[in-house]
Amino acid sequence: MKLPNLEEARKRNKIDYKTIDFKIDEKLKNKFNGKKFFIKTYGCQMNEHDSENIEALLTSIGFKKVSKYTDADLVLLNTCSIRENAHNKAFGMLGRLKHLKMDKKDLIIGLCGCMAQEASVIDEIMKDYKFVNFVFGTHNLYQLPEIIDEAIRTNKQQIEVFSREGDLVEGLPVIRTNNYKAYVNIIYGCDKFCTYCIVPYTRGSERSRRREDILKEIDELIKDGYKEVTLLGQNVNAYGKDLYEDYHMGELLEDIAKKDIPRIRFMTSHPWDFTDKMIEVIGKYPNIMPSVHLPVQSGSDRILKLMGRRYTKESYLELFNKIKKTVKGVTISTDIIVGFPGETEEDFLETLDLVNTCKYDNAFTFIFSARKGTPADKLKDNTTLKEKEDRLQRLNEVVNNYFLENNKKLEGKTLPVLVEGVSSKKNMYYGYSDTNKLINFTSKDKVSVGDIVNVKINSAKTWSLDGEKVK
Ligand code: SAM
Ligand code: SF4
Repeated sequence: MKLPNLEEARKRNKIDYKTIDFKIDEKLKNKFNGKKFFIKTYGCQMNEHDSENIEALLTSIGFKKVSKYTDADLVLLNTCSIRENAHNKAFGMLGRLKHLKMDKKDLIIGLCGCMAQEASVIDEIMKDYKFVNFVFGTHNLYQLPEIIDEAIRTNKQQIEVFSREGDLVEGLPVIRTNNYKAYVNIIYGCDKFCTYCIVPYTRGSERSRRREDILKEIDELIKDGYKEVTLLGQNVNAYGKDLYEDYHMGELLEDIAKKDIPRIRFMTSHPWDFTDKMIEVIGKYPNIMPSVHLPVQSGSDRILKLMGRRYTKESYLELFNKIKKTVKGVTISTDIIVGFPGETEEDFLETLDLVNTCKYDNAFTFIFSARKGTPADKLKDNTTLKEKEDRLQRLNEVVNNYFLENNKKLEGKTLPVLVEGVSSKKNMYYGYSDTNKLINFTSKDKVSVGDIVNVKINSAKTWSLDGEKVK
């Protein structure tokens, strides 16, 4: 087994993949009737959506979902490897499952997702976690029914991990967790190779779905009454580049916007591939939500270069301002890493300066986490954890102030809200505005989940707003 290797991975040619249609093996249909499963999902929306496919695959072979892992015959961990704490959480859960299996000898335990694509994790599972019945990688998801069948029949540990991505699989069954908001994958993998990031190794190279498959899925969602679609990819802006000469993210967004779907979102956008065509389309169509996630990672040009991000503070700000100018009322959120190897106090102050300029509406902030085999793991790092934690805290104070300041400006305004649920308090509902703000509100008349209603904002908090439904 080998660790991720940048040089080797970079040399990967554009892979020649086909699109194949998924078919369930008839012999396995309902074979496990009466058995119960529990899935624990870690990480990003991509993993959440994979779990929606996994749930449907398990249901098609007869399993029923339960909400407590102690009640299950099969426990599956869909893992994330982006930072060390995600790793630790999954291994912690494996420890609890080991105990459970001592009392419940027939318990089947599986591990999938990004950690399953890491050679070092597989080594550890084969050596020290023999009670894990099966492991399958992100490229092997569609083989789950066969893998489980084999693991149960042979009682031998099954490891099914393609180190290279294969064909794209269309027509996987799906059980969506939300009846009004749906995730739609448009591109898999990532070819950006930011030096700190494990994703290009765990998710493979960029592969776009065929446009007709995406548009068909959206038509079906509209038919089923969905109100919002979120187009998913590690870098959605690269959509189509591997498939078409002249049909990329801007064109796809426009084709979807012409359909009768009230809300379209997309994530994540790498600033490098954000085209003028995209900005123009987002500004033009009211059903493309005015909310853009634009990860910056650092405000220091020196650190951005070391990170391999391919933009400077200045070119990022140019893009940021162009989006703000063209898309009326847009909110912009970001991701920031502090404590990248070699980050000095001056570099960190550049990040604070950028945050003070952009005044983000939301920001996900992280301390750099070294990932084995990535180039950043080999860089010298003299900053102590204490200093990094201190920077994170200072950064969080600044970003939080802007969340509140921006929210305060919405007091007295009326926002469209897609209702997601009823809160435990009487006559209280919650949902998200077009600009992706969490809104709690009261209503004198009946409101249903899935409605889009107007809410007048009465008071602002840092992470949410309170209001009342108006006509
Ligand atoms: N593809 C997206 C992009 O580049 O904009 C990001 C996807 S990644 C799942 C989400 C975020 O995790 C990144 O934007 C970055 O801030 C953070 N991240 C990735 N690798 C990290 C690492 N090794 N340590 C700390 N944070 C990391
Ligand atoms: Fe990771 Fe995003 Fe960079 Fe790809 S673009 S390597 S997913 S941070």
